[in-house]
Amino acid sequence: MRCFQLASLFLFILTISHSCKQKTRVYLLVYNATIYTVDSSFSQAEAMAITNGKIVAIGKLADMQDFEAREKMDAGKKFICPGFIDAHAHFFNYGIGLQEANLVGTNSWVDIVDTLSQFSKQNPEGWLVGRGWDQNDWPTKEFPTKEKLDELFPDRPVFLVRVDGHAAIANQKALNIAGVRAGDKIAGGDILTKGRQLTGVLIDNAVDLVESKIPPPSDGQTIDALHDGEANCFAAGLTTIDDCGLNYREVNFIDKLQKDGKLKMRLFVMLSDNKANYDYAFTKGKIKTDRLNVSSFKVYADGALGSRGACLLQPYADKPGWYGFLLSPKEHFDSVARVIYEHGWQMCTHAIGDSGNRMILETYGKYLKEKNDRRWRIEHAQVVNENDFRLFAIYSIIPSVQPTHATSDMYWAADRLGPERVKGAYAYQQLLKENNWIPLGTDFPVEDISPLKTFYAAVFRKDAKGFPAAGFQTENALTRQQALRGMTSWAAKANFEEQEKGSLEVRKFADFVILDQDLLKVADADVLKTKVISTFVGGEKVYSSK
Ligand SMILES: [Zn+2]
Repeated sequence: MRCFQLASLFLFILTISHSCKQKTRVYLLVYNATIYTVDSSFSQAEAMAITNGKIVAIGKLADMQDFEAREKMDAGKKFICPGFIDAHAHFFNYGIGLQEANLVGTNSWVDIVDTLSQFSKQNPEGWLVGRGWDQNDWPTKEFPTKEKLDELFPDRPVFLVRVDGHAAIANQKALNIAGVRAGDKIAGGDILTKGRQLTGVLIDNAVDLVESKIPPPSDGQTIDALHDGEANCFAAGLTTIDDCGLNYREVNFIDKLQKDGKLKMRLFVMLSDNKANYDYAFTKGKIKTDRLNVSSFKVYADGALGSRGACLLQPYADKPGWYGFLLSPKEHFDSVARVIYEHGWQMCTHAIGDSGNRMILETYGKYLKEKNDRRWRIEHAQVVNENDFRLFAIYSIIPSVQPTHATSDMYWAADRLGPERVKGAYAYQQLLKENNWIPLGTDFPVEDISPLKTFYAAVFRKDAKGFPAAGFQTENALTRQQALRGMTSWAAKANFEEQEKGSLEVRKFADFVILDQDLLKVADADVLKTKVISTFVGGEKVYSSK
């Protein structure tokens, strides 16, 4: 009896003490969701507790009883995954581009001239700058010439950049300002002429002759541009973007905006390959805040395949004797690899052609020597010779690829490369196998900003029109899990940020996106109909579709 009383008393005390136990206050509790955590075992959860911008608990709703939330959010059985990370884009220039004439999707030269005329009426002063044309989408598929631009805009400089940024057309007024004349030569570039007259078309390094003369936007215009860009990116579910190649002045501008709370996007910024940036970087050191990471350099090995600037081991299939070219002498890549290595920074090099890729793989290998954790990246790794894939594993070199490039280029890639060589192009599954992880991106504004298109192109190897029905070179498709990892945890790893983001785990940033469909299960025809319901950065709602 006495024993029973003691036991009841003990039970009573236990109950009291349990019910009086202080609950931990948290800022937000999200529940009633299917959460893909994208952790190492790809586990699922149904609720998470968030405070101070970070996840403090994630699991079943029953596991959340110790928390008292200031705000509770019923996710309505929808799907949550980590905020998308675009491992290769041009965020700053995308924002600036939103203030320029948008030529993406134009399907003829006449169409472009019409678009520009409209734009010029709304923007009556200064340079007329446009971006996004692609002659491969036109009936003629030939580069345009500038006569019509000279006729319509004799007194206003006009500069229209091709979709890949590796070619542009300028009118005479713009060419005069830049001092470009017929017969001029430039290393790593080309100034096109027809019968000793300038056509206005500039390739690779020649693009910069005119582009560098465009007056920079004011601070106010830049802030507007970044806000417009950020709003679109949040609506697409992006929470971190790798901006591949900025100067330190732009970095400082971004850093200040972020510190003032005026820019919420998290950015991983690669510094462009020029002396001023190296001096700045090696004096000041790496920058790492919650929203900004500057610890890498972006170098260009060659141009793009579309404009035949990519450097190939054998001539182009559709231009006999033409190999494309490197944008700098080999010694340049060697010397920058050495200083970047010595200072412990990360090197990220654009390489498209199989010759460009081989040269960079070998240059990296000279300094990396063996397996390592430097995570030096090759951006695009687009056409790789069959014998060179193994070098990615030998030197732990990370291919950073853009699945929508495959489905944009598939219409003409075999023309440029021929039926055999194209098999080693856009070979994402084969590249993935080398290190067992691969970051994905878009290269926007070259491609659309949508991570859903990246997912769709990576998994189904089709473009947004669902073409081709059977998929393009599907032996190199990724699985749904691999694609989602590529857009989240593997992208974070490519940025040395896997401890803080890329998966939804305790102590990581509460950067996540709520989707109306299950990307792991939805039918392929419905993937692109998926809607982003809301986007959160550090637990703060930065986009809502309502
Ligand atoms: Zn790029």
